Amino acid sequence: MVTGGTGVSGETAETGAGGGEALATLHRVFGYDAFRGEQEAIIEHVVAGGDALVLMPTGGGKSLCYQIPALVRPGTGVVVSPLIALMQDQVDALRALGVRAGFINSTLDFDERRTVEAEFLAGELDLLYLAPERLRVEATLDLLSRGKISLFAIDEAHCVSQWGHDFRPDYLALSLLGERWPDVPRIALTATATRATHEEITHRLNLPDARHFVASFDRPNIQYRIVPKADPRKQLLAFLRDEHAGDAGIVYCLSRNSVERTAEFLNTNGVRAVPYHAGLDGSVRADHQSRFLREEGLVVVATIAFGMGIDKPDVRFVAHLDLPKSIEGYYQETGRAGRDGLPSTAWMAYGLNDVVQQRKLIQSGEGDEAFRRRAGAHLDSMLALCETVRCRRGQLLAYFGQEPPAEGCGNCDTCLSTPETWDGTVAAQKVLSTVVRLQRERGQKFGAVQIVDILLGKRTAKVIQFDHDQLSVFGIGADLTEADWRGVIRQLLAQSLLAVEGEYGTLVLTEASGTVLRREREVPLRKEPKRPTASRSGSSGSGSGRGGKSKAPAVELPAHLVPAFEALRAWRAEQAKEQGVPAYVIFHDATLREIVTQSPATVRDLGTISGVGEKKLATYGEGVLAALHARTPPSGPAPEESPESPENPESPQSPESDWPEPPDEPGPEDWD
Ligand code: ADP
Ligand code: ZN
Repeated sequence: MVTGGTGVSGETAETGAGGGEALATLHRVFGYDAFRGEQEAIIEHVVAGGDALVLMPTGGGKSLCYQIPALVRPGTGVVVSPLIALMQDQVDALRALGVRAGFINSTLDFDERRTVEAEFLAGELDLLYLAPERLRVEATLDLLSRGKISLFAIDEAHCVSQWGHDFRPDYLALSLLGERWPDVPRIALTATATRATHEEITHRLNLPDARHFVASFDRPNIQYRIVPKADPRKQLLAFLRDEHAGDAGIVYCLSRNSVERTAEFLNTNGVRAVPYHAGLDGSVRADHQSRFLREEGLVVVATIAFGMGIDKPDVRFVAHLDLPKSIEGYYQETGRAGRDGLPSTAWMAYGLNDVVQQRKLIQSGEGDEAFRRRAGAHLDSMLALCETVRCRRGQLLAYFGQEPPAEGCGNCDTCLSTPETWDGTVAAQKVLSTVVRLQRERGQKFGAVQIVDILLGKRTAKVIQFDHDQLSVFGIGADLTEADWRGVIRQLLAQSLLAVEGEYGTLVLTEASGTVLRREREVPLRKEPKRPTASRSGSSGSGSGRGGKSKAPAVELPAHLVPAFEALRAWRAEQAKEQGVPAYVIFHDATLREIVTQSPATVRDLGTISGVGEKKLATYGEGVLAALHARTPPSGPAPEESPESPENPESPQSPESDWPEPPDEPGPEDWD
């Protein structure tokens, strides 16, 4: 549970006072029964005035760790967050809970800003959100020193790290908070888990005495799956149709171009999707983000530019069409699924080109040798995760220095269906010999496509042009398929038994290659599936799979409760629209699910349901009960008119006929 040299987290309650009040606030304001994991210890520590560094996975529940102390301690909690575009939503969500929250950023006009400032000075705010650049302005510091501050929360604290891709220079100035307000506790929070980042945060934010809290990084409701990449868009569509029809989700691609093409492809095939990347106009980006938060079942196709701070609880899947650069990145991105605790999927398609591209990128990218070595190490860990035949969750947790489940997790692809392995020693030797021969006998280097053609004995134009059918290795690999050979090469690259070089990604030997060629070691490999597809998607042409549904399948209600659930969703959509807030700000799916399951008869009963706090009970109690019981008369099923008929067609046309051909070597035209 504990890391860092400065303290211990855990059971010791330094103050009896904070505990009871914190729990009461959790019940009253948020409507939750109990703290999760480290939340209680963190909150107690901060309520008592201590500094804290909090590491929790995305979706772990970081916000309560500063929101509750801000409510319990006298004064206003100042939250530093880099996410200007999300502040309005964050504040709206808090106000819906009855918390007095406000923000100051560049989107406010003069009068609006003056109002918030006046509220702060009058002690009428529990929480004030600020962008980091504000704290560089003397006027802001002056304003803050004229009010009473209960704590500083530094959200997304890894933005202070110069190694990460989220680095914000403005974060460096935050070290002054401790000097200027030595008596105000500071809590820094991040989902980035490497020790180097912790140390950097502690050092750069000047938090030497902060207690370090490291939560469990497990996200048990997320199912991790990595499938061999064949035709990624088609695989993605099959995955969505089979398992996530009508669900909200995020699809990550590496390049802007592939973001655009994937979004277009999904729309053509009946999945509503919007693109998001740094090349889009700011207003388009803001619009797409806002639609993702507000509409039900919208898919956003994005580069890594998207997602930090997005706290939409019902993201049911995160799909990767390209390999992330590191496990940290992968975990942060996949963690955006299933914050509401309901079943969700992290799905990735991964293939040979991913390895070649990423290795190439590292080599040709800027940065010194140390930078390259570090990037290489990150990639190696990511590749090891992709190629493992053991529990993926176990590997992830071990990566973050945590205890993996002893028996496997039972909720990842390798646990659900153990991959077969085979002795690839001879196959590896054939690949390496081909590379050696080209180089020694011809002084040539080629990429994977040519090597595979030579092994298979294919007389392609390029094979003939270079006389490669004259090589002694020509055709020695006819026993395996093309997909098998690509799998062998991919795994050799992943294990650094082979390397890529230069702008064309030609294959070359590594120091370790010799041990294979000299038969000093064996090369166990993962078997490639016969016909790689996302899942049993039925090539039968039945088209929609279980698709065409509009409700969230993850909610998994017994059939007779579905109409009531849908009625509540329709009621919620109306409320959300009226108030201009995302639906989850009213109630989460998980809360609606519990309401229909328990079917409370009175407002008081409704108040015992998780996620229904005091303010929401007062605002929505009657409305919820009316919507609920209008739909569930004591006798017989509900009337048939559908409260909300989403535009999902009953039977979307079969897409099988018009798959676009995937490009042979998709090139990242435009890296973010
Ligand atoms: P993070 O900021 O760590 O990514 P959040 O603070 O957004 O995570 O919390 C994730 C989700 O879990 C939110 O929907 C939040 O309401 C919910 N949550 C947090 N703590 C609790 C708790 N103690 N009980 C029930 N739900 C919780
Ligand atoms: Zn597992």
